[in-house]
Amino acid sequence: MRRPIIAGNHKMNLLPSQGAKFIKELISQMDNEHPEVIIFPPYTSIVAMKNEIDQKAVEIGAQNIYYEESGAYTGEVAANMVFELGCTWVLCGHSERREIFKEDSHMVNKKIKAAIRNNLKPMLCVGESLEQREQNQTKEVLEEQLKESLKYLSSQELKDLVVAYEPVWAIGTGKTATPQDAQAGVAFIREKLSEIYGESMAKKVRILYGGSVNPENVKNLMSQNDIDGALIGGASLKVDSFIKLVKYHE
Ligand code: PEP
Repeated sequence: MRRPIIAGNHKMNLLPSQGAKFIKELISQMDNEHPEVIIFPPYTSIVAMKNEIDQKAVEIGAQNIYYEESGAYTGEVAANMVFELGCTWVLCGHSERREIFKEDSHMVNKKIKAAIRNNLKPMLCVGESLEQREQNQTKEVLEEQLKESLKYLSSQELKDLVVAYEPVWAIGTGKTATPQDAQAGVAFIREKLSEIYGESMAKKVRILYGGSVNPENVKNLMSQNDIDGALIGGASLKVDSFIKLVKYHE
């Protein structure tokens, strides 16, 4: 059984005080039974949010880390630093990092290794651009991103890995992939993981869909066989909509 995940990526939004209010309200509206809920706030809100969480209802992750342990890397934040703040997850290879900050899969691979060394669970994002999709390159792109990002890592090291299939054309655009297209992308990722790491590992890895998920489309997406959860940007910023995503099964 793969436990579903509902994850919110707050990107560069919400001040620490707003983040704390968000978590407090969210927890107050959550039932005892819920999927695994993870919030990725900006670094500056991590402590304020952690202070509002008394049990394991919600986990906190970092949106990024640098792969070195310490040193002269002005402006960067290491994995052990966010671990000490109480983060349990880290996003690796989000398309905004790849596009705006020019991170390639080689760098993503170093970040995943740094995460694992420091007991953070990596959530690897992969996905094709609109141009790549129109040129029928989706599978090629997904395979390259997966193989390069996970290079030299064993299935044991990747026991906590989560992959998020996030077609770039669906992120922040309001254009969601159809449940069938999302399922096809996620199933392809599972097939590739099975080729590299074997069927038993591939069956255990949770694979999420991300790209304009909202309270209206979440149920259909979550009903697909291989989709184990959702990574949500825009609709995760307000408790009113995020709680509906957390309670998608109702
Ligand atoms: C994201 O940033 O990972 C994302 C999926 O954003 P949105 O839900 O806004 O498309």
